[in-house]
Amino acid sequence: MNSVKIPFNRPYMTGKELYYIAEAKFGNMLAGDGPFTKRCHQWLEQRTGAAKALLTHSCTAALEISALLLDIRPGDEVIMPSYTFVSTANAFALRGGVPVFVDIREDTLNLDESLVEGAISSRTKAIVPVHYAGVACEMDAMLAIAQRHGLKVVEDAAQGVMSSYKTRPLGSIGDLGAYSFHETKNVISGEGGALLVNDRELALRAEIIREKGTDRSRFFRGEVDKYTWQELGSSFLPGELIAAFLWAQLEEAERITEDRLASWQRYHTLLEALEAKGLLRRPVVPEDCQHNAHMYYVLLASGIDRQQILDELRREQIYALFHYVPLHSSPGGQRYGRVCGELTVTDRCAQSLLRLPLWLGISAEQQSRVADTLRDALLRAG
Ligand SMILES: *Cc1c(COP(=O)(O)O)cnc(C)c1O
Repeated sequence: MNSVKIPFNRPYMTGKELYYIAEAKFGNMLAGDGPFTKRCHQWLEQRTGAAKALLTHSCTAALEISALLLDIRPGDEVIMPSYTFVSTANAFALRGGVPVFVDIREDTLNLDESLVEGAISSRTKAIVPVHYAGVACEMDAMLAIAQRHGLKVVEDAAQGVMSSYKTRPLGSIGDLGAYSFHETKNVISGEGGALLVNDRELALRAEIIREKGTDRSRFFRGEVDKYTWQELGSSFLPGELIAAFLWAQLEEAERITEDRLASWQRYHTLLEALEAKGLLRRPVVPEDCQHNAHMYYVLLASGIDRQQILDELRREQIYALFHYVPLHSSPGGQRYGRVCGELTVTDRCAQSLLRLPLWLGISAEQQSRVADTLRDALLRAG
């Protein structure tokens, strides 16, 4: 039996990261908003069509800027899925906002657009669709609902860098979009993120909030003769060393995505027979969504004990994972959020979803080992 460990994730390095970091260091530009940050901003703006792209130290920070930009006040409601990472909700709760949790779709596990309107109240300010696994939410419907009710749309596109919906890059469709470059994502800088500002009217304030609430960026552009405190903000920007690292990754973003898509497709083919046997369900990617292979997950058939499957994989040194503990059933979610309707699909996914090892460079042989071990475990369990 082959027992070489197959880790869940292995951060990919393009090879130029240290070279660019050295360039930043010898250029004596270590604080934020130097040449590498500008290059990253330009790349993101060109690639996504956003009116303004701003690097942040995390996607969490980009979401926090969004909450400040939308002027979220105590009691304001923000509609989002419960099946997401904590930052989606926490960023708004920090301003006193109330996350309102709505169920997800059976197919993509994204916020169910048909349930959003039923969650709107006189306090609702925004909708936060989360593009799970880099597969787009039904954005046309989200935008139409937002327009009908005068709401803002903030895309949590943490997992959606290089993905698109009807050819439009994720993060560039709503009023605001948040990207993550955390080491567990596709394009990385350790910790890192970006805010995409698509609503032009918000662009100048976004810059101010990100720079400690000051108009420092305008000062550096020579638009004002001194910079001063303008409004609430914080330090949300990364230093140049992070931006230099990120630049090495953005340069290769296309190749990184193609490579991951090939591995994703290999799992998809390997697991087809298990789906036909009714032992699991594979991910669904709607026709008009181009995804980025951020994740390969399966939903185990009901009655299969996920922990037993995880244990059997672990015994063969295969490190699979699950997530999320739905926010509505976590202590923070119960304290700060509220549920709208039944979260049946959310609860079911939380019990049955299994994420398989996927990273750039995983070999066909390793993927076959994962699929074979999973098959054996499922046949024993089913
Ligand atoms: C990773 C992730 C985040 C947080 O990203 P950070 O860059 O670590 O702050 C937020 N939302 C979702 C859906 C994520 O997957």
